[in-house]
Amino acid sequence: MIRNRSLLDTIFFNIHLDGSILCLHSSFSKVKHVFINPDNLIDYFLGKGCTLVTPAHHYQRRVRYKPSMNILQNGIDSDNESHQSMDRIYTPENTEISSEMGIVAKHILLRKESFIGYHPENAFASLGPEAEAIIQSQSPWNVYAPYDRIMTYDKAFILLLGVDLCKATPIHYAEYVSGRIPFIRWYCDENHVIRPMRVGGCSDGFDSCSSVVSHLNQCKPGNSGWINIYPFKDFIHELVQIFRQNHEITRCSDPECPRCRDILKGGPFYSFKRYGE
Ligand SMILES: [Zn+2]
Repeated sequence: MIRNRSLLDTIFFNIHLDGSILCLHSSFSKVKHVFINPDNLIDYFLGKGCTLVTPAHHYQRRVRYKPSMNILQNGIDSDNESHQSMDRIYTPENTEISSEMGIVAKHILLRKESFIGYHPENAFASLGPEAEAIIQSQSPWNVYAPYDRIMTYDKAFILLLGVDLCKATPIHYAEYVSGRIPFIRWYCDENHVIRPMRVGGCSDGFDSCSSVVSHLNQCKPGNSGWINIYPFKDFIHELVQIFRQNHEITRCSDPECPRCRDILKGGPFYSFKRYGE
């Protein structure tokens, strides 16, 4: 018997997780005492009728572009500018994923039955009965559309396995719902046309939210700390209220962070350029 698997079975039974939507964020090295390999983890949840949704982001598809409008408060600094200089073509068939996403997300992405969102940088991947319904709405501009869809399910949870809230992408969605506009970046599509996409901001300060959502955690303190489960809708509603009252709670520890600086003011807005500007 794998250590702690029985704890997971008990949690599943007690809070009726069978058949639910699970927004999964994981560090496999922290849970390998529970699962033999990443596919074993994935099959455990699929075997209970769940739909798994995970970020499958890829951070090297931006291109440099100067739009005809001024975009102000857009979280760009010199690092971002150099990051944007990579010139690559994005096609929906592309299944690359950044290593920071973890091995479980990669295995979800690479399964042939996986559904992958249409977004060059912040795509989501999903497996299970509701995967297509959740993923199909994602577009480069509507980056968090899958979460809009998840809000319509009664049985949807955020499942953190061996990671803290800094890895919880739904917090970006809570920022968006609270009125923070995602940053705008650029990509090159398969017709070699440069197009805009909206992307998430800085998440380094997100763990500061743990105290305000701890009462929603379905796992009792002391349950070894490797698993945390929050009801999706309640988690989002709680954070939206908090963000409207306390903008600073998500600010990271870098006082110079341009993304925190700009997103806390509400994110990007536009102005027309004057002649000759
Ligand atoms: Zn920051």
